[in-house]
Amino acid sequence: MTHMSIVNEIKCSHCGAPLSFEPGEMLATCKYCGYTVAIETGEPFTLEHSLIINKYDQTQVEEPIRNWMRGGFLKPGDLAKKAKLTEKNLTYLPFWVVSAEASSTYKGVFERIAPAVSKEGKIEKEYDWLVLARKAAEFPTREYDVPLEGKVPYDFRKIEAFAHVLNSEIDRTEAEEQARQEIDENHRYLVAQDIDKIVDFKTEMKVEETVYLHAPIWFIKYEYKGKDYKLLVDGATGTAVKGDIPSIKL
Ligand SMILES: [Zn+2]
Repeated sequence: MTHMSIVNEIKCSHCGAPLSFEPGEMLATCKYCGYTVAIETGEPFTLEHSLIINKYDQTQVEEPIRNWMRGGFLKPGDLAKKAKLTEKNLTYLPFWVVSAEASSTYKGVFERIAPAVSKEGKIEKEYDWLVLARKAAEFPTREYDVPLEGKVPYDFRKIEAFAHVLNSEIDRTEAEEQARQEIDENHRYLVAQDIDKIVDFKTEMKVEETVYLHAPIWFIKYEYKGKDYKLLVDGATGTAVKGDIPSIKL
């Protein structure tokens, strides 16, 4: 019988400890030794696996949260003072970082002035494109500026006992394809500033490197005047990635 809450277990081939994973996960990382394995094949994961270090414990993280509550004119003036933090969960989310050169060639028509003129061109850019390695997670990947300069080789000893580590549900090939599609969309968006009707559009991407990465995100819930709100905080920088703001009644 299959059910989403069933947790499967294999034995870590590096340290022998039980290694648990959930249906749909592609990679599992041992919490006792940091070894990462491809679940389906049992093969060790040989690409670069990195970690972004979290800088806060459950008490310290309140400071960037209160600062976020105090900042910005759209928030209620007493938010930082009155809000009660009801949940503070640290989760290491899995990402793929696809470093690639992408170029799009396009042809189209500029119709905003008469007579319409044909235009063609090329967009060339380099990216460290971030792909969330979870299928159902609600996370605003495009709003998250992953602090890549702070990455270190994955070290299980740096993972706090109270934190969760999520495994990847997307393999490298899928991640690279998703990056290609998203970069293509991004380039189409850029071209649309300059062209009214796209006739031909083609994106090519050369992948230089793809890195598997775990990054610390604080999932915060707070209560303000009897209502619950959510906030996501980057554990490396203390930056609010996205947060619900109570509306100000005028
Ligand atoms: Zn192990």
